[in-house]
Amino acid sequence: MIPLLDLKAQFETIKEDVLPALLEVAESQRFIMGEPVRQLEEAISQYVGAESAIACASGTDALLLSLTALGLEPGDEVITSPFTFFATAGAIHNAGGTPVFVDIEPDTFNIDTTQIEAAITPRTRAIVPVHLFGQMARIEDVMVLCDRHGMALIEDAAQAIGARRLLAGEWCMAGSLGTTGAFSFFPSKNLGGWGDGGIITTQDAALAQRLAKLRTHGGAKQYHHEEIGTNSRLDTLQAAILLAKLPRLDKWNEARRRHAEIYAEGLADIADVTVPYTDRGNEHVYNQYTIRTTRRDELRSFLNERGIGSAVYYPKALHLQPCFEHLGYEGGQLPETERACSEVLSLPVYPELSADQQEVVIAAIKEFHT
Ligand SMILES: *Cc1c(COP(=O)(O)O)cnc(C)c1O
Repeated sequence: MIPLLDLKAQFETIKEDVLPALLEVAESQRFIMGEPVRQLEEAISQYVGAESAIACASGTDALLLSLTALGLEPGDEVITSPFTFFATAGAIHNAGGTPVFVDIEPDTFNIDTTQIEAAITPRTRAIVPVHLFGQMARIEDVMVLCDRHGMALIEDAAQAIGARRLLAGEWCMAGSLGTTGAFSFFPSKNLGGWGDGGIITTQDAALAQRLAKLRTHGGAKQYHHEEIGTNSRLDTLQAAILLAKLPRLDKWNEARRRHAEIYAEGLADIADVTVPYTDRGNEHVYNQYTIRTTRRDELRSFLNERGIGSAVYYPKALHLQPCFEHLGYEGGQLPETERACSEVLSLPVYPELSADQQEVVIAAIKEFHT
């Protein structure tokens, strides 16, 4: 059995760091906004290279709080990718906005920034590029558009903690360039907790204060409320786990990149398999290793029969979801997204994957194609 993701294998390697951290929280009995939450915010803001970080209950809430802070009015539009996890567009709707979908680049699966300008209207308030599968979008193009039109830029960096892009000779981290960056600590992300969690990064100290308030019912001081927020705190227990894991993140991301290289070599000669493309100037963190193949569903069953895990991220484009029917999109309208939905397959790429296991995966894919 080679699962898509093996969190038990990771647990064996981190037990000795994480369990004492949990015991410490248990002994303190400070489960809400204990010291580890503040320490994690400090550590993540340093790691990302952001002025501030505000921990919250999930990646979905990191997006929702960022968008809520914009004060969207009915009819306000937010441009994003239709090829992403549902939360990206769901958060736009729940913050009071209307999602506007722009097609993706076929090679990186990220939003095609050359098509954004045509989608901007007087009602466009923000752009939410998604750094999909662990590779940053062409954010410099989005920054130019946001500056020119006075729009906010919310980076959906849920899959991209540690990913970097070379801009004007400088390596910039995902989450350090937008109005805010939204991260998820869902267990399957590159830095995962033992439950839900998320964090927002920003370079804007005033916005950070505002987000910290929105996270705790809109009040900086207990029982005094300047505005209406919500309860979206990160548990102290999750913060303690994440703090114990953070020092290993770069090594884990390196291991994912090594696996990607081995796949790229091993799968190079198969005509019907396209391995992931890394844009020049990007350092990928491979939250997913996603190939394309025209016989995707057959290959997936073939691997499944041999005990090899794989997954389809994502099988149905967001512009064609029943809940967005009212937006009026039609099949064929965003062709690269729709083609990706029928061709993508994500393979095991977790850090603990062994060389032997990876050989088994490669051999199975070769066998299928002979
Ligand atoms: C995981 C994910 C989210 C949501 O994060 P949760 O912590 O699960 O709420 C948002 N966007 C993308 C692209 C994701 O992969």
